[in-house]
Amino acid sequence: MKILCIGKNYLDHAKEMNSQVPKNPMVFMKPSTALNPDNKLTYPDFTSNLHYELEIVIGISKIAKNVDVEEASNYYDKIGLGIDFTARDIQAKCKEKGHPWERAKAFDNSASLSEWRPKESYNLKNLNFSLLLNDKEVQKGNSNKMIFNINTIISYTSQFFTLEPEDLIFTGTPAGVGPVKAGDQLQGYLEGELLLNVSII
Ligand code: MG
Repeated sequence: MKILCIGKNYLDHAKEMNSQVPKNPMVFMKPSTALNPDNKLTYPDFTSNLHYELEIVIGISKIAKNVDVEEASNYYDKIGLGIDFTARDIQAKCKEKGHPWERAKAFDNSASLSEWRPKESYNLKNLNFSLLLNDKEVQKGNSNKMIFNINTIISYTSQFFTLEPEDLIFTGTPAGVGPVKAGDQLQGYLEGELLLNVSII
């Protein structure tokens, strides 16, 4: 199992990061060991600026290689929410040096994942999602603001990587990313339904 992640897929987030909007999906990966088994995240001792990034996540259902955009919806069957935890201080140093940023984004338990819902339950082109930090809303997004939509992401990434059943794709975060500290509670909502609970300990 692998986790593909898309960076800078919402204009408002690209702006808050002072980043250019990419011409093609910006892809990075997390290993299977990044998936948090119980959504209790121990604050890592190698960072002092750990950020949440709430994202819509899709679950790949069939082997996908060089898939056309028009066919891409046949290759995933479920949808959920995830948090792409990021050591922002380490990421900034990696970016400055032009180094890979796995240490900032692919560390153990850096990916939280909610329970799944069947994709048929939603209008995927108009999907509202939001994140509460200690009961205060900090992120609010809609899939209609994605720069690259889900089908484009599947088609594009499958040119480079064979997608396999149980692979996950984190589809990018909207604006409002920010730091967490030990004791914080994060709650992710999809179309008003609480799907994700994460504790920082
Ligand atoms: Mg992200």
